[in-house]
Amino acid sequence: MSNEPRTAIVTGAARGIGAGVAQRLAADGMKVVVLDLDEAACELVAKEIREAGGTALAAGCDVSDEAAVKTTVARVVEEVGAPTVLVNNAGIIRDNLIFKMTLEDWEAVMAVHLRGSFLMTRACQTHMTEAGFGRIVNLSSVSALGNRGQTNYSAAKAGLQGFTKTLAIELGKFGVTANAIGPGFIETEMTQATAARIGVPFSDFTAMAAAEIPVQRTGKPEDIAHTASFLVSEGAGFVSGQVIYVAGGPRD
Ligand code: NAP
Repeated sequence: MSNEPRTAIVTGAARGIGAGVAQRLAADGMKVVVLDLDEAACELVAKEIREAGGTALAAGCDVSDEAAVKTTVARVVEEVGAPTVLVNNAGIIRDNLIFKMTLEDWEAVMAVHLRGSFLMTRACQTHMTEAGFGRIVNLSSVSALGNRGQTNYSAAKAGLQGFTKTLAIELGKFGVTANAIGPGFIETEMTQATAARIGVPFSDFTAMAAAEIPVQRTGKPEDIAHTASFLVSEGAGFVSGQVIYVAGGPRD
């Protein structure tokens, strides 16, 4: 292994879990690309990383836009170095019961989670196979196991698990691993939006969720960042094709 720090791209990293993962990978010594729709919002996270002594580039990019993904990955190669670590974290929710779900809401969720992860992975895997090293982490969810009001999201998150296992099979011989993290309830703007949609104050919403979780608390972005840090580490090269639920209790 070379001593040159790895370049890691984290998508959806302007806030929430992605920002937590970007900060953690930078603290681990990686050069981090903070990628999200709004480059100015990415820069706020990148600046925090630099102020803490890390290396970070802010990159505005819509992961579902094929041309934008191509341009952005080329920019990363040029400005930071070939990406050999990729965390596909960008995500949206468009919840509704099936009889009220619009085709637009179905397709919007598929576009960010599935199409976005596919485009980002296809663009980055070239650099990983060339380097003979790569780490891909996809953000799935406990919702992959089924969740009322989320036919679109649960289908996308289950789809990401199949995507992950197939990447592990195809890319393993090049030193590339692929794993999925399935978070349970993590306190972010996404779960705040869910609380707002059902009209429950966020503190009540988290308290109700915590009561049902074996460790009796809800998760924080750092809980996911810690798991991602392990999965992208040099030493995790024999862990591939796995779905790790990080949910404060068991999931099947
Ligand atoms: P979040 O706070 O809503 O952050 C998601 C980020 O993704 C936002 O900054 C968003 O940008 C960005 N994004 C959306 N569409 C994008 C696109 N097309 N291209 C690039 N970036 C895009 O969500 P989170 O809670 O941190 O969740 C992160 C990931 O974990 C998601 O995949 C989510 O499904 C998954 N997850 C979360 C939980 C949870 O409890 N929070 C549980 C299980 C799984 P904008 O703000 O500009 O839209």
